Amino acid sequence: MKVESVCVLGSTGSIGVSTLDVIARHPDRFRVHALSAYSQIEQLAKQALACNAQVVVVPDTPAAQRFRNVWPAGRPAPELRIGAAALAETAADSEVSVVMAAIVGTAGLPAALAAAQAGKRVLLANKEALVAAGGLFMQAVRDNGAELLPIDSEHNAIFQCLPEDEDRARAPRLPARGVRRLLLTASGGPFRTASIESLHDVTPAQACAHPNWSMGRKISVDSATMLNKGLEVIEAHWLFSMEADNIQVLIHPQSLVHSMVEYEDGSILAQLGQPDMRTPIAYGLGFPERIASGVGLFELTRMQKLDFESPDFNRFPCLGLAYDALRAGQTSCISLNAANEVAVAQFLSGGIRYTEIPQVIGDCLDRMASFNGAAPRSLEDVLEHDNHARAVASELCMLRT
Ligand code: NAD
Ligand code: MG
Repeated sequence: MKVESVCVLGSTGSIGVSTLDVIARHPDRFRVHALSAYSQIEQLAKQALACNAQVVVVPDTPAAQRFRNVWPAGRPAPELRIGAAALAETAADSEVSVVMAAIVGTAGLPAALAAAQAGKRVLLANKEALVAAGGLFMQAVRDNGAELLPIDSEHNAIFQCLPEDEDRARAPRLPARGVRRLLLTASGGPFRTASIESLHDVTPAQACAHPNWSMGRKISVDSATMLNKGLEVIEAHWLFSMEADNIQVLIHPQSLVHSMVEYEDGSILAQLGQPDMRTPIAYGLGFPERIASGVGLFELTRMQKLDFESPDFNRFPCLGLAYDALRAGQTSCISLNAANEVAVAQFLSGGIRYTEIPQVIGDCLDRMASFNGAAPRSLEDVLEHDNHARAVASELCMLRT
């Protein structure tokens, strides 16, 4: 069996750790070539030691020094690469066949895009890359013979429910034949039933306490506001060539049905499983084969019921903002994502209130609307618009503190 050589971008994060867990179960199939992290350098060193990584990428020279300081004497050290350009080069490295894109935010876009341009199998967790640069990204996958496997649990579920076409990882331009709608499920997060008045005083710890999934802090806040589901609607648009009107969000508090595909004949296919990201990660790594993920048996008899309800757009204004951005075009999606990254970081550090997140995003989209020209044609166009929106969003946050 061919051993695939894997690069894990963002290996110290929630998805990165789960990825290394699945890989470690299959030493006959996968070896880790490269790892990257931004802050938890000690953890990165432990990971590199455990999986015998050949290359590690850190953001700057102080981080590199920290890595050297904690590396045990007498053990052969991995090659240490520094900076964002090294990240993209490593993702495109000829030694690598599979790239797990698990950096959070637009910061992960250049390396994820580089992997697609280099024709790798890209396991895409970093949804912000598709939100900011969906057109460019899908084009890069098609033009360079890359494979794109969605790792976001909803998109992985939809991918699994699509017709069995071996080429479906190669970014077809048209929606799959016979598909009427995509039904994206959402847990509703920690504030699904809280009184709307109480949201005013929500703390970062409360927003990060997700009822069903354990995730990084940024995506946990996004899940609470449901901006995460909005990003996922945009992600689904690009992955599966579906228009906004044919992507429906359903609140499903049990988080057991991970999403569904509705066909023209009325059939609805669903993928179910425990809320554990190792399932979609193992699917992406093994595709088209199924491999063990470490996820235990799912006791259907213990499952009491499956509820589905429509989301309340007043409770979750971020969801409506995301649909609006998708309908308005790619530059609006860049602004939406950038404003959200700024607003969530401000909320997590105590700069703005939870209820100000949608206000900052909405105001930023309004201010940026006059710059919504043609769709971006290059990574530079995307990053320029992203930087502009970030500056506007930061200013809007400052006005509120
Ligand atoms: P996390 O915060 O736990 O980890 C993020 C990783 O990215 C860390 O390794 C960190 O060091 C690295 N990183 C952060 N900023 C960086 C920067 N500027 N440059 C380079 N590296 C940087 O996040 P996570 O929960 O693992 O999520 C990662 C991505 O996967 C996000 O895009 C998220 O939306 C997506 N996702 C996560 C889950 C989940 O269950 N955690 C589910 C679906 C999708
Ligand atoms: Mg998801």
